[in-house]
Amino acid sequence: MSVQLINVSHIYAQGTPFEFAALKDIHFSIDKDEFIGIIGHTGSGKSTLIQHLNGLLSPTEGSVVVDGVKMGDSKGDKLALRRKVGLVFQYAEHQLFEETVFKDIAFGPKNLGLSEEEIENRVRDAMEVVGLDFETYKERSPFELSGGQMRRVAIAGVLSMKPEILILDEPTAGLDPYGKEDILRSVYQLHERQKTTVVLVSHNMDEVARLANRVIVMSSGEILMDAPPAEIFTQVEKLNEIGLGAPDIICLMRALKKAGMDVDDQIFRAEQAKEEILRALKRGEGAPCSKI
Ligand code: ADP
Ligand code: MG
Repeated sequence: MSVQLINVSHIYAQGTPFEFAALKDIHFSIDKDEFIGIIGHTGSGKSTLIQHLNGLLSPTEGSVVVDGVKMGDSKGDKLALRRKVGLVFQYAEHQLFEETVFKDIAFGPKNLGLSEEEIENRVRDAMEVVGLDFETYKERSPFELSGGQMRRVAIAGVLSMKPEILILDEPTAGLDPYGKEDILRSVYQLHERQKTTVVLVSHNMDEVARLANRVIVMSSGEILMDAPPAEIFTQVEKLNEIGLGAPDIICLMRALKKAGMDVDDQIFRAEQAKEEILRALKRGEGAPCSKI
């Protein structure tokens, strides 16, 4: 499926003293199989943008086009879009409310009127994707779980709707490194194995550098850059100018080059960096440790 935003502007509290233009003339489209990372500092319009992609917000100006058809204002159109485009909110665990993990994840499919069997299958599948054992956790109260586990329950609640596009708003914010890793691994596997299109909003450059195949940089309600990660993350100065950092890896490679090591300083992913550093160490000197 594809979703396009054409000339989209969004003004909050229009006509009041609190009027604020959060999106300005946005052109943007998501296509099948993409893994899009959206970066930008707080207040740049990321959350406002993604809520237009699943019909939670409507443009003040411009239009949303889904699979070539312009979205109307009807409730039916919006509901249909929300079923296909799953949105995991920032701190999604705050929206858990049922007494068991099973009931919470089953909430969406139940509202679709699916059979008990289909509901259970969907809950099982969603729990498997986020790495929660069905038998161990299904009857637990979500409120007894760790922060990372609660967030995974909340993500499973969106996955149980089998969205074609999955949007996650800062899904790792506030979690410890293991909790972050668990979630990123699940999201990446979903993209790889089930071909789910993913939109990941994050202010963590390393996460986006690692996973996305297209990166959107937002600033003051506008899309400043929209390009493959190699084009975005090598522009360290430009990122710094708008108050964003660069991935740690590219900074490391630049520091190594400056210190006299013969490495490619455009690398921004850890795996490639490791190989490049080992190659540089071996070059002409035999075993890597002979240089130390
Ligand atoms: P981000 O997700 O990048 O931090 P948001 O899309 O949440 O940015 O917000 C963009 C701007 O719109 C911010 O300046 C924010 O204060 C403002 N904003 C967000 N939601 C509302 C709202 N409901 N009413 C008024 N202003 C809002
Ligand atoms: Mg936000």
